[in-house]
Order: sequence, then structure tokens, then C-alpha cells
Amino acid sequence: MSEYALLKKLCLTPGPPGFEDKIAELIINELDKLDFDYKIDPIGNVYVELGEGRPLTLLSAHMDEIGFMVTYVTDEGFLKVTNLGGINPGTAIGNLVTVLAKRGEVYGIIGATPPHLLRDGKKELTIDELFIDIGVSSREEAITLGIDRGTTAVFHSYFISEGNCVIGKALDDRVGCYVLLKALEKARGPEYGKVVAAFTVQEEVGGRGASTLAHRFKPDIGISIEGTIANDTPGTPSEKIVTKAGEGAAIRLMDATIIAQRKLVDYITELAEKKNVKVQFQISPKSGTDAKWYIQLGARTVGVSVPVRYIHSSYGIAYKKDVETVIDLISVLIKDNFKKL
Ligand SMILES: [Zn+2]
Repeated sequence: MSEYALLKKLCLTPGPPGFEDKIAELIINELDKLDFDYKIDPIGNVYVELGEGRPLTLLSAHMDEIGFMVTYVTDEGFLKVTNLGGINPGTAIGNLVTVLAKRGEVYGIIGATPPHLLRDGKKELTIDELFIDIGVSSREEAITLGIDRGTTAVFHSYFISEGNCVIGKALDDRVGCYVLLKALEKARGPEYGKVVAAFTVQEEVGGRGASTLAHRFKPDIGISIEGTIANDTPGTPSEKIVTKAGEGAAIRLMDATIIAQRKLVDYITELAEKKNVKVQFQISPKSGTDAKWYIQLGARTVGVSVPVRYIHSSYGIAYKKDVETVIDLISVLIKDNFKKL
């Protein structure tokens, strides 16, 4: 398999929140190939338990991606939608989507009420003004294709891995799934205590899969692995930069839901330094991850991420060197498992 072929498959496969089955299949297939035993819980999380005893470290990457759910099919065959996860309606327009119809995938374009027909003084589009145009002219035609209330859709994209970067949809968080798989392959397991490596469901709508795992395992240490906001782009003042693409693994010091435990951050930073792994510190006051559930269940918590520009839109871009760096760091953490913390 060529370089990044697995990430390509993970990114191109659709998996909106609550509908992660195809991503789970890819991951299970990889775990089988790598000879890891896995479990699947009723909500759909896939996880591997390695080692025994304490500390118990729960490492997770989420399988779902932002998407849409059809709320209503108009008489003319347009699909009105609600968002599954954080979507900016203004940037969604004109994008190609894959509608996951019962009788097979259907392509559509996101449209909106023409701006000059919007109410005076109103600037920002809302999700209610969006619709998906699948090129049919009646509700009956849509229903015949297997599209109705509750049908989901995700952005459709190419995947590009030539050069220094990877470009595609759903790098949040398929890059995290990829990193966790590669790190498992490298580390095989902890030298001490227990590690649970999990691929979670429904993160984009509140970390629901992670919540069930946190309750099940009551981890001592909880780490979410993400494709996270990189906003080192023109017009962003330096003090507003969350992470920089190409500058290494992002260690999350705080977000809207956690303050990372400083002892844990220091431990990871020292270990990274020893192993020559480049890290940067992320401060992200407006976002959250699966880790919010680990802290609520009493774990020492942090996030480790690959910086991705333009997350939660139809395309993201990440540096391969950052992906490799995070794989190195996570594999070191799995092996060490905070022996001296
Ligand atoms: Zn994410």
C-alpha cells in the first residue's frame, strides 16, 4: 500500500455522527491486519485493550465527521437539512456533498436562499437557509432514490497526498484515527499498566462515544488525538494563533472543556524532548474534544493533535511531517504509559 493510502481511504469514506459504520469497518480491517484484538460496544466505539492494571490510559480518536441530516424534502425535491456538528453555513454553499441514500450514494450541491432575497440587515446565513440540490424535480423522485427525513450527507472531496501535505475532507478526525493506528503498529503495547486505544463515535455532537468509554474504564489518564485548528493564515494576528501547521504535535493546554494537568503536560513535553519529537502548545478557548469526558470522570487529561487548516469545512490541509511527529509521540506515550508520573 502506497504512503498515506490508508489515510486516503479513511478521509474519503463517509461517516457522519451516528453513522460511523464504514469507518469502523476500515479500522477493524486494519486492526485485524496488525493482529490486535478489538471490541465494539453497543454505541459503536471500537477499542483495543492492551496490558493490565493501572495506570489506565485511554487514548481516543473519533471516527465521525461533520455532516448534515435531511429534515424535510420539499415538493420540488430540494433537501432541507440540519447540521451534525459545527458547520459554517456561509462557507458550505456551492460545495459538493455525498447524500447517503438508502439505495446508494447520490451527489448534491449545497445551495441557499439567494443573498439578495434575504431579510434586510441580515448578514450571516443560518443552517435553515441551506438546502441540498440533488438535481431532481419532485419529492417522489428523491424518495425513489431512498432519500427522506433522517437521511445524512457529508462533504465530498478529493484526497491529495503529493508533496509535503495531505489535503482532503474529514482530516478532523480521520488523521487522528490514522495516527492512532500507526502508533499502535509501532508501539504494540505498554511496558507498564494498561492502555485502551479507542476509535469513538459522535464526537462532533458532544463526545457521546467517549462518554460511554470514560464511564466504562474510569481512566487515570485520558488523551484525545485530533486533527485540530491551525489558523496560521493571512490576517490572523500572532496572539490569536491556536496552532501552526508544520510546527509539530499540538499539546492542548486548555480549551472550553479542559485545563490540561500541568504535570501531565510536562511529562509529555520532557518525553518528547528526549525522543526528539517537536511539540507546540495549543490554547483553544472555544473548542472541545472527547477529553472533556475524561476530565469529568476524574482523569488527568490532555489533547495531542495534528494541526489542520480549515477544519470543519469541505477541505483541510495538514503537513505530513506533523502527522509523522504525532505518530512518533503517541507511540512513545503508549510504550511508556506514564511509568514515572
Ligand atoms: Zn475532532
